[in-house]
Amino acid sequence: MTLTADHGCPVSAVLDLPHHPDPERAHSMIRFCTHCGSGVSFEIPAGDVLPRHICNRCGHIHYENPRLVVGCVATWEDRILLCRRAIEPRRGFWTVPAGFMENGETAAEAACRETHEEAGARIIVDAPFAMVSIAHINQVHLFYRGRLATADFGAGDESLEVAMLRGDEIPWDDIAFLSVTHCLEHYLEDAAQGRFGFHETALGP
Ligand SMILES: [Zn+2]
Repeated sequence: MTLTADHGCPVSAVLDLPHHPDPERAHSMIRFCTHCGSGVSFEIPAGDVLPRHICNRCGHIHYENPRLVVGCVATWEDRILLCRRAIEPRRGFWTVPAGFMENGETAAEAACRETHEEAGARIIVDAPFAMVSIAHINQVHLFYRGRLATADFGAGDESLEVAMLRGDEIPWDDIAFLSVTHCLEHYLEDAAQGRFGFHETALGP
């Protein structure tokens, strides 16, 4: 396993315990209880260590936790599947297929679903490949590597276009997200060495 910390805070800093996130930055503004509609208070529940939005009437505690974005570096021979985004954020920029994981699916299923939705491709997932923690936006990005099951692909509703590109054709200046840049860089390095590892990175603001 390779631990890297390029462009961000070191992974060890994220793993240091106790590490309590800034509560102002770690929570969205919740005004009303999602269960009963009453007003909420922002305070530390009994037995907890961080403030939460707590319903003044029914006592429901609104926990907020990071969201998981799952994607895939999907290849066909020596080419990588990339999508040019048709939606914000970063409309017009390139990414590997990726999106928020849904309830009721496994991470690998999310990678397959996103690749089919955005790029019209059916893939065989090989292995998890890269994980990027982005604490300041409360997200973790998990990328698998996989192969197209057939040569079929095409732009879905969320893509302006889809392309199979060789490493030397990747539009580095027009990649939508830094996590995707990291993932693609590691993928090409590993592919050149003929062996794939797992790469963990933490990105700072
Ligand atoms: Zn309530």
